[in-house]
Amino acid sequence: MKKILSIIIMCFVIFTFSSCTNESKNITRQTFALDTVINITTNEKDSEKINDAFALLRGYENVFSRTKPESKLYLLNNGQGKLNGDIEKVLSFSLEMSRLTNGAFDVTVAPLVDLWNIKERKTPPTAEEIETARSKTGYEDITLSPFSLGGKAIDMGAVAKGYIADKVAESFKEKDVENAVIDLGGNVVLIGEFNVGIRNPFNPNEVFATITVKDKSAVTSGAYQRYFEYEGKRYHHIIDPRTGYPSESGVASVTVISPSSMQADALSTAIFILGKDSISLCDNFTDTDALIIMENGEVITTENFDKKYELKK
Ligand code: ADP
Ligand code: MG
Repeated sequence: MKKILSIIIMCFVIFTFSSCTNESKNITRQTFALDTVINITTNEKDSEKINDAFALLRGYENVFSRTKPESKLYLLNNGQGKLNGDIEKVLSFSLEMSRLTNGAFDVTVAPLVDLWNIKERKTPPTAEEIETARSKTGYEDITLSPFSLGGKAIDMGAVAKGYIADKVAESFKEKDVENAVIDLGGNVVLIGEFNVGIRNPFNPNEVFATITVKDKSAVTSGAYQRYFEYEGKRYHHIIDPRTGYPSESGVASVTVISPSSMQADALSTAIFILGKDSISLCDNFTDTDALIIMENGEVITTENFDKKYELKK
């Protein structure tokens, strides 16, 4: 008996059900951590393990939070602490991504993220403020050995959730969990086979299409989750470091599917900034595909996407 669970990716799980009869029910638990809504689903028999996963997530808040004064990242940004462990792995991957995208993905984007402060702001900053913040960014100044931030501050908002989702999946597999959905605010990792709904970026309560995915991660970046509007224009949370403004590439949403959630997370952000031609960035990673929905409604996929994932409307 094949069990397929349907979920909607991109921040909130709208519905969860098992489409076939099976001996054990699925349980979803929700919490708020890493500045986002977390939903974890497992078979009923594994549901106790969700508590362990939540504990793991809270531990990672003390590593990757940029605002918690006791976090490892906070300490590093303030010239304290050593570069090692999780932060070292994510930083070295982020620098690779920064190089691969010629700085469109830039792990030193922190001053611009702080200036735009999308959660609080009601009006855009001035061009002068943007230029000042932009001049404080630049991944090229970071060196790993010897370690130096070169006066820059790092922000792992575009990649840490993916890394953490991979870690939760690893810990589940070590505990012999065979079916799970780990959804960290739209960074989804699937253990087993599931129907995944991709949100319609023009009407986020609707499903644009559904695909069946097995043992992979699906991550969406879109401009419809964190933004403010001013004089009829939308200002969102994904910043183009080349201009200092929220990116305007004509992309409404990008969904990346990959065996690595960290890679999918970073790639979805990078493709969102660089636009449709950058879908070829997926070729740099194993078994990694993307689906882009453009603001004009055009849909673009990697060549193999259609072979691997049938789009069901
Ligand atoms: P979400 O956080 O909604 O899942 P993303 O994975 O696309 O979305 O990451 C957006 C976050 O990444 C921002 O909130 C910010 O912290 C960071 N960020 C914004 N612009 C860039 C950029 N050009 N390069 C790297 N990180 C960025
Ligand atoms: Mg991302």
